[in-house]
Amino acid sequence: MSGNERAYKTHGIVLRARNLGEADKIFTLFTGEHGKIDAVGKGVRRAKSQLSGKLEFMSEAALTMHRGRNLDIITGAQIERARWAAIVAPAGFATAHVLAELVDAFCELDFAMPEIYALLRGALQALARSSEPAIIVPRFELRLLVALGLGPACDTCVRCGNSLAGEAAWADVEAGGLACERCRPHRADTLSLAAPDVTNFRGLAAGPGGAVQPETLATPASARAVEAFLLWQLGKRPKSSKLLEELAHA
Ligand SMILES: [Zn+2]
Repeated sequence: MSGNERAYKTHGIVLRARNLGEADKIFTLFTGEHGKIDAVGKGVRRAKSQLSGKLEFMSEAALTMHRGRNLDIITGAQIERARWAAIVAPAGFATAHVLAELVDAFCELDFAMPEIYALLRGALQALARSSEPAIIVPRFELRLLVALGLGPACDTCVRCGNSLAGEAAWADVEAGGLACERCRPHRADTLSLAAPDVTNFRGLAAGPGGAVQPETLATPASARAVEAFLLWQLGKRPKSSKLLEELAHA
């Protein structure tokens, strides 16, 4: 490969960064073109570095990259959207960490997922506009599951296939969808959704073009159902959701 072939441009959002050696950092970026990538910012911890102070958490940048033998190297960054204003408040910060952690956990390295890139960008824009950013989380989580092909069935009962239009339902997490009342087992601990919650859940799942609309908000019951499906798929609680809960109860 010639020098030119090893250079490429992409757009990315900074999910996280960790120190490498004396002055470098490894950035985990989520890009539109290549999905999640790890890349080195050489000398980025030095004040004189061109990249210094640019690649902050959740910033969106036009990046010039160089393909390395192991990790790619960030050779230039032009910030398109800095997020510090939106995430400087505790609720914005905690919400942004939940989004980053989920995208990081669900997306494999070097696997392009343009729909999820658009979803993350949309959620960050909604977060910046919202005085109560945590309310965008359930919708983001459900849209993320849908984009990953893990979206719970919610138009028809996951057990018997009957339509759920105008019906109450319960979250059958193990079966992977909402189920109708007739299919409810005789157990007290099922997560119930009244008919308006089911409509709300379906509305959240079917969001237009992957964009997170802040005006479509989860009802408490549908937010609990989304959380249950997400935890089932993730197999653990997101670490950052703890921070969000602490803020909610403060
Ligand atoms: Zn059923």
